[in-house]
Amino acid sequence: MYQRSELKNLSILNHQEVVRVRGRVFSKKDCGRILFLIVRDGIDTLQAVLVKNKEGTDGQLSIGDYNLLRKIENESFIELIGTIYCAEQPVSACSQQSIELAISGYTILSRSVLDLPITLKEAAIKEDQKTESQDFSSIRYVKRLNNRILDLRTDLAQAIFRVNDGMLFCIQSYLRNYGFIEIKTPKLIGGASEGGADVFKVDYFGKPACLAQSPQLYKQMAIMGDFKRVFEIGPVFRAENSDTNRHLTEFIGVDLEMVIDQSYMEVVHLVYQLLLDLFDTLSKKYHREIAIIRSCFNLPPLTFASELVVIPFPDAVSFLKAYGKERGDFDDLSKEDEKQLGVIVKEKYHTDLYVITHYPSSVRPFYTMVDPNDGRYTHAYDFMLRGVEILSGAQRIHDYVSLSQRVAQLGIEPTTLDHYLNAFKYGAPPHAGVGMGLERMLKCFLGLPDVRYSSLFPRDPKRLYP
Ligand code: ATP
Repeated sequence: MYQRSELKNLSILNHQEVVRVRGRVFSKKDCGRILFLIVRDGIDTLQAVLVKNKEGTDGQLSIGDYNLLRKIENESFIELIGTIYCAEQPVSACSQQSIELAISGYTILSRSVLDLPITLKEAAIKEDQKTESQDFSSIRYVKRLNNRILDLRTDLAQAIFRVNDGMLFCIQSYLRNYGFIEIKTPKLIGGASEGGADVFKVDYFGKPACLAQSPQLYKQMAIMGDFKRVFEIGPVFRAENSDTNRHLTEFIGVDLEMVIDQSYMEVVHLVYQLLLDLFDTLSKKYHREIAIIRSCFNLPPLTFASELVVIPFPDAVSFLKAYGKERGDFDDLSKEDEKQLGVIVKEKYHTDLYVITHYPSSVRPFYTMVDPNDGRYTHAYDFMLRGVEILSGAQRIHDYVSLSQRVAQLGIEPTTLDHYLNAFKYGAPPHAGVGMGLERMLKCFLGLPDVRYSSLFPRDPKRLYP
């Protein structure tokens, strides 16, 4: 039995070597006497060649084998044995362009059905769709997402989820290097974590409960438990009935919380360095995957300023007003405002990544530290990438009395918050943190037109399957 080789590891160095490879039948071309069969493994493809021989020739495959392979359904999973040789001319249809495989043996491990609900060619992004707005309610995308397993086999999805894996790994490694420990908090909770109506209610043995909208309260309680720096990567649930290109009803939240020394800007700088490190590592390590994604969507690479660009909320409002936008000074930023600001900031500061600080207290959650010098604003901040909010954070109120007063002031029913509020009774260090959506960040980093591309099995108001 020959040692099995991965398609991606083969090269002209394997010339004349007999190898055993596995993959899916991507496509076939029968030229009468020669069969060209492209075998695919992830984003790697290799052309395998079978020449028709007289029946019964010693040690060679028969005409029956030729006919069987000629008719094998695309997407079938097969194993091939053959000799690697240098291609006479580059095989442009394959990732392995300089070598081919002369088939001498095969095993069909699992046949696919003939009529695929969607072919990989159909699922692939075509030239004329690169600039078209990617509408996920269109029949094409509904079909793609209904058949997500096949859709996931495309180059594009394979590339996206490799970068996704890299993103998770980099974030975890970076935070651990900076003294954070990873925690997991409950997702079934007694009361809404972020307040508001965007909560999925569940029946918990006859008692009302809900799915966590974020790990906010629990990561802060971990700080009260004297873990100085914590992070969590886990699912969060939002019952937002909005069909947009950046909202999911379930997404992966990347949350961190840390004790601060002097100022919440310590968190802002740490997160900025984390993002720069992350984007730099991904661009280097996943250049092949990123090239595949770029070939599907036309988007310029990211630009960063040499120093972190910080824009206080009132300045952001002034920028928008200077560009003719009519709006109140304390209104939250709409999606259009964020987009417009992205353009303005890029013009002024030549960066796609920046931070807005000092959000108004009226638009931030109850636990946010209000600016002691001006109660209309807070110690809250959002990071923007390509004109979209990718993460949100703030210094939190750590004094029990102030927190209880804020809860009362906002008319929040304190009973479901008892355990959270009590945690502050026993002394709490000043702390701050952030929450980001993994899929949203991947979408903005890679320039994907819709957040559903970066969710393995997306959940939106219309989609609960597959
Ligand atoms: P938005 O204003 O974009 O709806 P938000 O202010 O509700 O976001 P937060 O509650 O502050 O968002 O959540 C923190 C981060 O989580 C956001 O910056 C974003 O990256 C991500 N996020 C929030 N809601 C969603 C969602 N529905 N789908 C995907 N990611 C989300």
